[in-house]
Amino acid sequence: MINVTMRELKHLFENNREWAAGKRKQDSEFFERLTGGQTPKYLWIGCSDSRIPANEILGLDPGEVFVHRNVANVFPHTDFNCLSVLQYGIDYLGIEHVIVCGHYGCGGVSAAMENKQFGLVDNWLRHIRDVSFREKEILDPIKDTQKKYERLVELNVLHQVMNICHTTIVQNAWNQKKKLSIHGWVYDLSTGLLKDLKCCISSIDQIDEAFCTLQLH
Ligand SMILES: [Zn+2]
Repeated sequence: MINVTMRELKHLFENNREWAAGKRKQDSEFFERLTGGQTPKYLWIGCSDSRIPANEILGLDPGEVFVHRNVANVFPHTDFNCLSVLQYGIDYLGIEHVIVCGHYGCGGVSAAMENKQFGLVDNWLRHIRDVSFREKEILDPIKDTQKKYERLVELNVLHQVMNICHTTIVQNAWNQKKKLSIHGWVYDLSTGLLKDLKCCISSIDQIDEAFCTLQLH
């Protein structure tokens, strides 16, 4: 028989009640305002890793950042989940900044570097293995495993930024002269700090330039 107490996860409901009460105490109209709708300016595409809650590390309240997370912050061209978030965010919410944020210490990227199977997730990690293969010229000369791993974390972010720039969604937004920038960042678990990979792209003609600049670093 299932342990009902465990299934109910009472402590989480208690936490939730305390959190809601605290918010109301700080700002009596907090929830009423959110009920009116959302107009976040940022879309965060990050890793599912439990140590990287987007709102918290950005210092943003509910309603301020639209979030999509998956294992190792991958944005495949054909993933309808990713594409739907991007399209809805840009076309209906008025997102102005899409942030792809990878992180050092990423288990997904680390697993992609290993020569063993982890199950179904290997098919998802294949995207990172593809990045690794395409960037052999940059990665192979790096003999230090840790440094190579960190470079792959960064290159993975860069490739996902490019994938986003190549979608019809982003290109149509730029053609319509919408204000829209795609950013590539990395979060450092050991310091809690974000690093800007400086590959920000705000128009079609900046795509190749940003790609080359980061690769050469
Ligand atoms: Zn990760």
